[in-house]
Amino acid sequence: KFLVKDKVVVVTGGARGLGFSFALGLAQAGANIAAIDLDVAPGPHFERLSQCGGKHRYYRADVTNYEVLKATIDSIARDFGSIDGCIPAAGIIRDRPFLQHTPEDLIDTMNVNVIGVFLTVQLCAAKMSAQGTGGSVVCISSTAGHRSLFPQTISAYTASKYAVRGLVKQIASELAQHKIRVNSISPGVIKTDMLESVMQANPTRRKLFESSNAMQRLGNSEELVGMVLCLMSDASTFTTGQDFLVDGGQI
Ligand code: NAD
Repeated sequence: KFLVKDKVVVVTGGARGLGFSFALGLAQAGANIAAIDLDVAPGPHFERLSQCGGKHRYYRADVTNYEVLKATIDSIARDFGSIDGCIPAAGIIRDRPFLQHTPEDLIDTMNVNVIGVFLTVQLCAAKMSAQGTGGSVVCISSTAGHRSLFPQTISAYTASKYAVRGLVKQIASELAQHKIRVNSISPGVIKTDMLESVMQANPTRRKLFESSNAMQRLGNSEELVGMVLCLMSDASTFTTGQDFLVDGGQI
């Protein structure tokens, strides 16, 4: 039931952080991965995917650029023959008090975290629908998509993560007739470059993050993979339009 063997999964933000961990976890379980990211070279760690067997390719694209993203997803469908799953994990964060958030902070955050997710899912779902085989989409919201994480100052990010959950609710209803399930996970504080950048800008945040959940520690990206595998596989065929918190007991 938890099998993802031979499924083709598109993962944005797949060069590092959570996206890379999802790609690796799925590859280890037998999936084929099409990773999309901005980075020119995804780095030597990306080679770990090829050691899993299966077919894995890296595509350089900006998820906010519709033409480039469409051409990339067309290429993926041609290169792999089908698309069975989609994880739009590319995301950015701006940590600045609300009154100091610039229009660029808001526009950049919404462009990647909402518009990028919307377009990626729309383009992948169009392929799944045309194939007639259906598929599974796992979006990435956040505990910031459930409540204020004050004293963090991430208003644009928070708005974007609430938007992801709203999008999931709406399109799960619309895509069910195409046999496409759409869910999201909401990670808590997980050790990645994104979290590191927030902690470097404000060192008091590390203590705040570590004491923010029942387990009193930061999470590792591998600790999210089980939930993603479940949602991507036939273990969850009656599950759609839902969000799953994986946050060490934060809320
Ligand atoms: P990260 O910064 O480590 O990795 C994000 C990746 O997305 C990078 O490889 C980056 O190059 C890519 N990316 C950014 N903008 C892009 C664009 N326009 N086009 C293509 N790729 C782009 O961040 P992360 O911590 O791995 O975050 C991944 C997702 O998980 C984000 O949506 C983030 O909001 C969410 N999240 C993270 C945490 C956490 O604690 N780390 C918690 C909750 C949610």
